[in-house]
Amino acid sequence: MFDELTDKLGNVFAKLRGRGVLTENDIKEGMREVRRVLLEADVNFALTREFLERVEKQAVGVLQLKSIQPAQQLVKIVHDELTAMLGERREGLKMSSVPPTIIMMVGLQGSGKTTTAGKLARRLKLEAKSTRLVAADVYRPAAIDQLETLGKALDVPVYADRTTQDVVKIAKAGIEQGVRNRDRVVIVDTAGRLQIDADMMDELTRLKAAIKPDEILFVADGMTGQEAVKIAQGFNEALDITGVILTKLDGDARGGAALSIYGVLKKPIKYIGVGEKPDALEEFHPERMAGRILQMGDIVSLVEKAQEAFDETEAKKLEKKVRKDGMDLEDFLSAMRQMQKLGPFENLLKLLPGVNPKMLKDVKMDPKRMKHIEAIVLSMTPQERKKPDIINGSRRARIAKGCGRPVNEVNRLLDQFREMQKMMKKMGGGAGGKGGGMPRI
Ligand code: GDP
Repeated sequence: MFDELTDKLGNVFAKLRGRGVLTENDIKEGMREVRRVLLEADVNFALTREFLERVEKQAVGVLQLKSIQPAQQLVKIVHDELTAMLGERREGLKMSSVPPTIIMMVGLQGSGKTTTAGKLARRLKLEAKSTRLVAADVYRPAAIDQLETLGKALDVPVYADRTTQDVVKIAKAGIEQGVRNRDRVVIVDTAGRLQIDADMMDELTRLKAAIKPDEILFVADGMTGQEAVKIAQGFNEALDITGVILTKLDGDARGGAALSIYGVLKKPIKYIGVGEKPDALEEFHPERMAGRILQMGDIVSLVEKAQEAFDETEAKKLEKKVRKDGMDLEDFLSAMRQMQKLGPFENLLKLLPGVNPKMLKDVKMDPKRMKHIEAIVLSMTPQERKKPDIINGSRRARIAKGCGRPVNEVNRLLDQFREMQKMMKKMGGGAGGKGGGMPRI
């Protein structure tokens, strides 16, 4: 996410840090570079200018104070201003006092609206809020199928009616069903077009008047930069949206849309889409995002991610067992599987302070490696998994043959496993934490 922006800003500040004492000129030059980086990331021009004016005003203070680490102070100022530009503080979904809360999803075709409706339903369900999806995108029959498939996969009920094109009727009937079923949230997926057009806006305005949604979330394609901001303005003028969800920030998005949309619209970004899978939706926190962009890390998100991915009952079971009987290869596999749920290793590293996306080019962990480890462990007998010490040379050869991996890979895995066992013994025989220990591979 915003790797290039992060990298370039990192370079600007690294240069300033290298200077030690800063002169007015150093700061001016640094700010000129920040300006260039922001414009290259496709941030709105007027916002960039305002941003720099505010930073420069405060930077003068840094010079006067003759502080010990002027560049660090400057990063702090930029961080705070970046946070303000992104929306100041997190704004969650507005929940109605009388259920169901009605959420209307709007946006252009292809922006990720239907996918995001599913992701949001999944998230709400995880928060124990029973949620229903309503398919009010009637012009693209595939959209109804898509929502129904998503609903099935996520085990979220979907209301659809293929006999009518009256979206108000469909949405009302879907909400009715939600009321009868005592749902906490009903998400209405609406039709998008390739561009803003009068018919679409007319339909959405009528729908809004009829169902009085608590939230109108505009789904914006983060890859499209300033274009997304312009389109958001169009939707906002017609519908007075309540929030924004930016999608596709996992790709090469330069960041311009994320950094400009709040400043231009004064409507909060509530979530961001970071992948195609149903769990690739993150809460948007302006301060944390500013921290990530400036490589100050985002430990809070890392911890939350871990909490969401770990199956607590599984982890507790594992920990108890490991504490009692020590770790065997079954436990090792189970811990690895839990870790894998956190997503690619390099994405996790990015959340740590000072980790530069460029540095990560070399630490990409091959996802196949996990599959290989799994195959090796699965081709052992249950007894071997429990007592790896009995695995002698001929057993190793048999295991390697069974899983189709070279013997040296089997050896490597056993060595690593033994290392880890030793480490755990040193730590007091326990798994050393809720996650059942962190195997290093
Ligand atoms: P709609 O026409 O607005 O309903 O768009 P869809 O929900 O059908 O999404 C369009 C395409 O964008 C699909 O291929 C989605 O998988 C993809 N997509 C949606 N959100 C994201 C995201 O956050 N990241 C990535 N990489 N792809 C996404």
